[in-house]
Amino acid sequence: MTQAIVVGVLALQGAFIEHIKLFQAATQKIPGHEFSFIEVRTANQLKTCQALVIPGGESTAMSHIAQRTGIIEPLMEFIKSERPVWGTCAGLIFLSKQLVNGKPEQTILGALDIEVTRNAFGRQLQSFSSDLDFSSFIEGVTDFPTIFIRAPVVTKAPADKHVTDSKVIQAPFDYKNESPLEVLHKLDTGLIVAVRQGQVLGTSFHPELGEDSRFHQWFLQEFVLASI
Ligand code: GLN
Repeated sequence: MTQAIVVGVLALQGAFIEHIKLFQAATQKIPGHEFSFIEVRTANQLKTCQALVIPGGESTAMSHIAQRTGIIEPLMEFIKSERPVWGTCAGLIFLSKQLVNGKPEQTILGALDIEVTRNAFGRQLQSFSSDLDFSSFIEGVTDFPTIFIRAPVVTKAPADKHVTDSKVIQAPFDYKNESPLEVLHKLDTGLIVAVRQGQVLGTSFHPELGEDSRFHQWFLQEFVLASI
């Protein structure tokens, strides 16, 4: 029997179970490959993974738990190993290099060369859903139902070379993603809500909170299977 491809979902906090459910649904459409989806809380679990997803939730809590449990360094090692990583919402915040509107004690990893602004949609528009046309990067997907919950947006792509504003949180690690940065999707308002830089994907919205597994299928095919 061939060995299953292990995809981890960081399970410190947030919508990790939802990701696993949608991945399981997505595998029905990818015959001929065996996948295993696991919750990741420790460095040893992370080591067994060929790809990692960082879910939506609350980035300040996630960063706090990650620091307390000592998984920040293993996460950096994972990113440096160039295995695929996808962050949704709070996960996108965690992967960014510079963060506006973060909490001072919050840590970010710097896997994507972008500046992200937390809670960027303001009070009136804290949560909304919208069908978006992703057919420029996912074939045939013209009407993907997206859910935004107190979502971040990408405010600079690439991030500034030097940060002068002391309120902007900067990733403290000496890591540079050398792949080209691609903006995958902008809303009609011009706000950037999906980016890719090599093996790292970031989305402001939550494909894991809907019923549509096409985004998860795309990640498995385009990032995970393409990397092995
Ligand atoms: N506002 C949250 C944060 O700062 C992100 C919201 C989400 O993941 N739905 O982490």
